Amino acid sequence: MTGKEQSYINEAFDLNWIAPLGNNVDGFEKELAEYVGVNHAAAVSSGTAAIHLALRLLEVEQGDAVFCSSLTFVASANPILYEKATPVLIDSEPETWNMSPAALERALRDAKKENILPKAVIVVNLYGQSAKMKELADLCDAYDVALIEDAAESLGADYGERKSGSFGYFGVFSFNGNKIITTSGGGMLTSNDEAMIKKARFLSTQARDPALHYQHSEIGYNYRMSNIVAGIGRAQLEAIDLRVQQRRDVFARYQEAFQDIEGFSFMPELTGARSNRWLTALMVNPTKTWVERTTIIEALAEENIEARPVWKPLHLQPLFEGATYYPLQENHSFSDELFEYGLCLPSGSNMTIEDQERVIQAIRRLL
Ligand SMILES: *Cc1c(COP(=O)(O)O)cnc(C)c1O
Repeated sequence: MTGKEQSYINEAFDLNWIAPLGNNVDGFEKELAEYVGVNHAAAVSSGTAAIHLALRLLEVEQGDAVFCSSLTFVASANPILYEKATPVLIDSEPETWNMSPAALERALRDAKKENILPKAVIVVNLYGQSAKMKELADLCDAYDVALIEDAAESLGADYGERKSGSFGYFGVFSFNGNKIITTSGGGMLTSNDEAMIKKARFLSTQARDPALHYQHSEIGYNYRMSNIVAGIGRAQLEAIDLRVQQRRDVFARYQEAFQDIEGFSFMPELTGARSNRWLTALMVNPTKTWVERTTIIEALAEENIEARPVWKPLHLQPLFEGATYYPLQENHSFSDELFEYGLCLPSGSNMTIEDQERVIQAIRRLL
């Protein structure tokens, strides 16, 4: 927390607008849209809700295909299953660890041939780093497929001159407790299409028809953000640039401390892009370090330090068994390698230099 959250919450109490709506919700929507560089935003209860609404707004239904990055947190793809649509999973590429434009192109070409183009492509910006949005957006345009940018982990990152999350037809953000800024829980759906964002607000408040009585013709949800939660978000957003700098500093200190370790390769940063370094992630090559990634995690756990593997790709999850998968190359899946060798280190914005030194020394002892 920054210390300023309480004043926004007090404002909500003073005005007696606790929930559901109020000036903090309006303010947070406007301020986030401005920061990201999009025209409209709807504040909702989670990033997952924002993805679900995006799929509903694109009229995704049972039997429709939706493409999604395979290397991601399950929340990116769960809403595909809510609508009983068919997920098609796309591999990552080595320069960003995000969706491979080449694999997406193969998938789109095949889909077109079989006359089952997807209703949407969900591109995830992993660990704070933008995917190759230009190539991916150009492909989606060429095939006339809507792009949903899952920027839950990349708020504050840049890609070229623009902010991460502003490249899709829809952008999705999360303010869950583990994200770079948090409202305790919450999310945002953004778009330049005003009608879509208005409809998102309608669907997120139980889809009530304009009538004096309570009348409903569509399935709606209770997905709206409360005015208290939005107050936390407004203060958090004021600190986003500082949080990005703090996370980047954490990353830089790890990189510097391990620069002599040949078997460590840190998540790269795309030329012309600036990651928010939400998590410091690296690949551990055990033929060079003589220590397995999992051994490092276990050794840290013994010292009460939590580290984790990189996300288990969705195409390897029991939940998505049988889903069509497009690897980087016909016989080479890059996300399998990231899962096998990838390590995420403690990366909190509030980590002290002493905290970080403790992590570094524990790993160095092991090596
Ligand atoms: C956290 C996260 C989500 C979901 O956001 P919630 O607010 O937790 O629902 C979606 N996608 C990615 C990549 C995430 O990291």
